[in-house]
Amino acid sequence: MTAAFGERAEMPRPEGCKGCAESVRVSPEKLERLIEIAVRGRDAAPEAEAARRLALCRACPGLQYGTTCRYCGCLVDVRARLFDSRCPYPGASRW
Ligand code: SF4
Repeated sequence: MTAAFGERAEMPRPEGCKGCAESVRVSPEKLERLIEIAVRGRDAAPEAEAARRLALCRACPGLQYGTTCRYCGCLVDVRARLFDSRCPYPGASRW
């Protein structure tokens, strides 16, 4: 299948995929800023718990581009730092 200039080619998506593109990559600086904004006014997970969650995300087949969960579309560095967050891995949460 070939897309005309300016069109997006429809690619098959793995089950559960939210359709992220490589454009979801964020710089470390932007990521820090997003974390800062996300935890403002919310309960943050303790450092050790956030680190534990992130280690599990780093080893997860659902992690895309090193930053993004394919099942919820969240930046895992943000999601893991929110106290009330849960892992959306299908079938069984990984953290
Ligand atoms: S499914 Fe869970 S462990 Fe995997 S990347 Fe998403 S939040 Fe992290």
